[in-house]
Amino acid sequence: MGPTVRTELADARDGRARQTPVRTCVGCRSRDEQSALLRVVARPDGSTTRWRILVDERRREPGRGAYLHRDPQCLRSAITRRGLTRALRLPAGSEVELAEVEERMAQQST
Ligand SMILES: [Zn+2]
Repeated sequence: MGPTVRTELADARDGRARQTPVRTCVGCRSRDEQSALLRVVARPDGSTTRWRILVDERRREPGRGAYLHRDPQCLRSAITRRGLTRALRLPAGSEVELAEVEERMAQQST
């Protein structure tokens, strides 16, 4: 049993050293592994105050991204507490179109 315990401890230390990326959810403000969060980006939607929020599934889209749990409650908090517009650096008074994100979250929760 002794050697097994030592191996587990070594693995735990290893995991900490490698550090999976951690991001803060702009909805509930808690930190989580990047893989547990959805990256979203904003794209102009015909004017400088209208933005479409898109899900960046591969986390490759250029520009500022915001991270959200795949949870409609986090999305709601991100809007009402303005965490999303702040994280994406959208101008004051911006309107955001969330249809795609909402749709994606609805798919994930089933
Ligand atoms: Zn969250």
